[in-house]
Amino acid sequence: MPLQGNTIDFDSARMKLAQGDAARRRRSKPVTSFEAIQRHLSLTLQTSLELDRVLEMFFAGLQALLQADGMEYRHSAAGAPLSLGHRALHRCSYRLSHAGGYLGELQLSRQTRFAENELASLEALLGTLLFPLRNALMYREALASALNDTLTGAGNRLALNQNLERDIRLAKRTGQPLSLTILDVDHFKQINDRFGHAYGDEALKALVNCVAASLRNVDGLYRLGGEEFVVLLINTDANACHLVAERIRQSIEQLQFHIDGQPLPMTASLGHATLRADDDATSLLNRADLRMYEAKRGGRNRVMGQ
Ligand code: GH3
Ligand code: MG
Ligand code: MG
Repeated sequence: MPLQGNTIDFDSARMKLAQGDAARRRRSKPVTSFEAIQRHLSLTLQTSLELDRVLEMFFAGLQALLQADGMEYRHSAAGAPLSLGHRALHRCSYRLSHAGGYLGELQLSRQTRFAENELASLEALLGTLLFPLRNALMYREALASALNDTLTGAGNRLALNQNLERDIRLAKRTGQPLSLTILDVDHFKQINDRFGHAYGDEALKALVNCVAASLRNVDGLYRLGGEEFVVLLINTDANACHLVAERIRQSIEQLQFHIDGQPLPMTASLGHATLRADDDATSLLNRADLRMYEAKRGGRNRVMGQ
């Protein structure tokens, strides 16, 4: 596959930009076009901190300089690769970095081969992307740490509030069902008392991994606090939610968690509720909470629904 590869960092991009400017001035061609594109793109890229948006704007702005059919961006911290346009036969790729910090891989593609002078201009233009890209990655990281529980990696209460409000609005507009289940670990205090808080923490992490493994990737898992969690299930009615809650209960019961080689059985009680026309986030959570306490009173390690 024709692939033209490269590594680029901010300093070399800036140097290429300066060299490109000098070369253009020497050729006494109108310099305005590249400079104008570059200046315009620089300003445009500063208008967003959203990674997807920054890359979309770069791809759109780039077309003024060279026609590219597709662009793909990869970074392990940014989740799935982001693809724009259509992937084509001829590709050039760049490993982006700034001051030793890795900023991801960018690949452009099109039907015809990239000419050397086009690549030189592209590399100069990449300089405009580096700071906005670094800022967008930092913003994404800051958002993730603001919305995730540091111990377990599950979403935190703020994330739950935001997503639950959004999903309720969406469910009411589209008429799709929305359910949630509250999960509380049974006799968790005894685990702390017997083995210590640090092992209790490990047990919570194992439990979150176990619950996450039994969910679809559109389902949300949030830590309400302590050893209580919420699973938010979009497009899921009460029957389907009951099945999911029961699957979660079984997978926790079957979790092979060991402390110092000794198996530590864990169970949880779950209550679930499905959105009604007059519900808001609080009433929906309260109903699931009441069912969870019924499950506790009923003997624990069980699921109760509406
Ligand atoms: P029940 O079956 O009625 O839910 O009993 P329980 O012992 O789980 O309930 P209780 O609410 O009395 O105890 C919850 C315990 O969870 C008490 C608290 O110390 C512990 N806990 C809360 N957050 C954490 C944490 O982050 N790490 C650890 N290790 N323990 C925690
Ligand atoms: Mg509790
Ligand atoms: Mg508990």
